[in-house]
Amino acid sequence: MTTTDFPPAATLAARLSSGGAAYLPGDDGYDAARGGYNVAVQHRPALVVAAATAGDVSAAVRFADEHDLRVVVQATGHGPAAAAEGGVLIDTSRMTEVTVDPKRRTARVGAGVRWQQVIDAAAPHRLAAANGSSPTVGVVGYTLGGGLSPILGRTQGYAADHVLSIDLVTADGVARTVTAATEPELFWGLRGGRTGFGVVTAMEFRLFPLPHLYGGGIFFPGEHARTVLHAWRAWIDSTPDELTSSIAVLRLPPADSVPEPLRGRQVVHVRVAYLGPAADGARLIAPVRAAAPAIVDTVGELPYPAVAAIHADPVEPLPVYERSALLGDLPAEAVDRLVDVAVDAADVPVTLVEVRHLAGALRRAPREPNAVANRDAPFLLFLASVAAADAAPAHVAFQDRIVAELGRWTTGRTFANFLTPGDGSAAHRATGYPAEVHDKLVALRRQWDPRGRFA
Ligand SMILES: Cc1cc2nc3c(=O)[nH]c(=O)nc-3n(C[C@H](O)[C@H](O)[C@H](O)COP(=O)(O)OP(=O)(O)OC[C@H]3O[C@@H](n4cnc5c(N)ncnc54)[C@H](O)[C@@H]3O)c2cc1C
Repeated sequence: MTTTDFPPAATLAARLSSGGAAYLPGDDGYDAARGGYNVAVQHRPALVVAAATAGDVSAAVRFADEHDLRVVVQATGHGPAAAAEGGVLIDTSRMTEVTVDPKRRTARVGAGVRWQQVIDAAAPHRLAAANGSSPTVGVVGYTLGGGLSPILGRTQGYAADHVLSIDLVTADGVARTVTAATEPELFWGLRGGRTGFGVVTAMEFRLFPLPHLYGGGIFFPGEHARTVLHAWRAWIDSTPDELTSSIAVLRLPPADSVPEPLRGRQVVHVRVAYLGPAADGARLIAPVRAAAPAIVDTVGELPYPAVAAIHADPVEPLPVYERSALLGDLPAEAVDRLVDVAVDAADVPVTLVEVRHLAGALRRAPREPNAVANRDAPFLLFLASVAAADAAPAHVAFQDRIVAELGRWTTGRTFANFLTPGDGSAAHRATGYPAEVHDKLVALRRQWDPRGRFA
């Protein structure tokens, strides 16, 4: 390690485990360790600590405290709350241990584990986790923000509702095991509060039996967007909680990574996951299947390890700008407005216009209260643009316009995990929670991190 720019870094390197490392700007390994999925947010820390153990995390946090440096955590870079400018970036991607206990139906993961690892370890036991649409997302970051599963959401609720225990290094560098019994308030806030309490080094949570999975995606030509959106909206209310679905209008690039019949096209993508036998699933989705002639239809019996096929999210790093809003209702008039402004209008730059259906257990209070909020909304609008930095302002302005046009139907809040990456402002974070939850989280963060190390 080069220590000329920041001499005290040598003292930290000496405290790390053999698997850990510290990198200063200019070091080999600095760029790899600070890089992540969403390249629109660039971390430029004074120091990156690639932690391999909870002890490395403690050493990094203590070091930051000694030198009055801010701490930012990154596992995969899918949802950076804020860019690390100066300060210490703790990279947890080396902490990849996964243990599945099939008898207790639980999994325990290290801070750097991605969903696909858990899926692969649980599937042989016919167990599943409340994972999200993209199995390359990090388990811990996803769960801290709530964790909205497009597979188990309607039957089991949010991933955060099923956390049993969290190993956390707090701002004082102390490693604690946080449970409902040991630290009930902190346990409440960690599950849904997303950020600001410390560095999670491991997490234990419930798994669920998965005897059947019938799922995939149906792609329709973009010119049928209005018809398919209306058909999906009319259909979704009649579906049982065993069926979770979302719909998206996508502007796909003319890239080799996109399958030929979809390449360079505007398409409507209906995503389905049904937790029952294929024959029942086929009967249930028949109305939406019949909405228009499909280009590609991948819905069928799906092995759980192939669950990424339902959403088919991109896996390579991209510059992504996101915006979301919870909808209190989605009547036919709102569908028409959405299509008018976000699909049919001239020069719409937005890459993805998505609506997720929230129902069943997603709208009920969990057994053990937590900070996942805004459970009353039945739909979540999510907009994403893949854009170069110079085009980003136009995309962001257009996304704001779409949300404004749907203003009558929005609740003024959003889902915490879909808060815009990079926008760590207090006002923006507040839209993830009602005032009383937000204020309680702020007070808890102050209690556990009085000097704002993780602010
Ligand atoms: C393609 C894509 C698909 C997605 N699909 C879904 C979905 O279906 N459902 C859903 O709920 N969300 C979804 N998300 C949102 C995602 O869950 C959040 O962005 C989440 O924060 C990503 O966590 P990460 O660790 O992968 O990312 P990172 O950028 O590495 O971390 C994001 C934030 O999580 C916190 N964090 C991460 N690790 C730790 C830790 N060990 N200790 C303390 N804090 C930590 C930090 O605040 C960090 O800034 C999706 C995001 C993308 C890009």
